Amino acid sequence: MWLHGRESSNMADMARNRAFRIGRSRTGLGLFATAPIRKRAFIVEYKGRKLTTEQANKLEARGNRYLFEINSRWTIDGTSRKNFGRYANHSCRPNAEVHTIGHKVIIRAIKNIRTGAEITYNYGRDYLTNVITRRGCKCDKCRKKRADGRAKARAKSRRAHDSDA
Ligand SMILES: [Zn+2]
Repeated sequence: MWLHGRESSNMADMARNRAFRIGRSRTGLGLFATAPIRKRAFIVEYKGRKLTTEQANKLEARGNRYLFEINSRWTIDGTSRKNFGRYANHSCRPNAEVHTIGHKVIIRAIKNIRTGAEITYNYGRDYLTNVITRRGCKCDKCRKKRADGRAKARAKSRRAHDSDA
């Protein structure tokens, strides 16, 4: 198991020993590993006050982007800057995931993460289609896909050009 009882009741200690820093990323701020993080290891809790679905819907309508739905009744409002979890950016090929344990939300590694790598998780289909759209996604995987697409289009137009000659 990645999380032991003693550790889970001692999040303050874990925060002091944290293996990440907040730094500049392509899309603003992001979380970056300051030490190697092993696959399945706990990284950080997604902290915030607990809201009912009704309260959360109101905040969402006002543009709160840090709501994390735990279940049909409860949502975490992760707006606080003390919630380091809010700095983890989206990726379509992430190295971490969110995991709920009861009403606690944590981010944990799904791969071994090397020092200096940005810690990302997949925000999910709703986020991708409603908030950023696939074309607007700035994660490494989507950027590479768009670059490959552009290279292919260039090669194609070159071929078309060549056959004209
Ligand atoms: Zn993407």
